Amino acid sequence: MNCREFESNIQSFITGEFDERKYDSFMEHYNNCSECREELEILYLVHNTINSDLSDEFSFNLRDRLKIHMKNMEDMVYRHYKYNFLKNFVIILAETVLSGAGITFILRLLNIIS
Ligand SMILES: [Zn+2]
Repeated sequence: MNCREFESNIQSFITGEFDERKYDSFMEHYNNCSECREELEILYLVHNTINSDLSDEFSFNLRDRLKIHMKNMEDMVYRHYKYNFLKNFVIILAETVLSGAGITFILRLLNIIS
C-alpha cells in the first residue's frame, strides 16, 4: 500500500467501515510511514472531537485511544479470520463426511448388485 491508498482508507478505518482484507497492508504502511501515521492520528483526533459528547474525554490521551481503536480493529479482523477458518473447516468436514457417506452408499449399491 502506498501513501495515496493509505490516505483513501483512513476515513473508513476510523469509522470502522474498513475492508478487513486491507488491514495487513494498511498496518504495514502505518508502521513504516511516519507522515501517514501522523495524518491518521490527526484525522482520528478530528473525528473524535466531532463525535465526542463528553468534554472529559478530551483529557484522555489520543495515542491511547488510537491504540485501543487499533486493537479493536485487530480483534475484528482476527475474529473474521477465525470465523472464516472455522467455516472452511466445517465445510471440509461436512464434505469429508458426505463424500465418505457417498462412497459407503456406492459400495452398498455395488454389494446389492453383485
Ligand atoms: Zn505514507
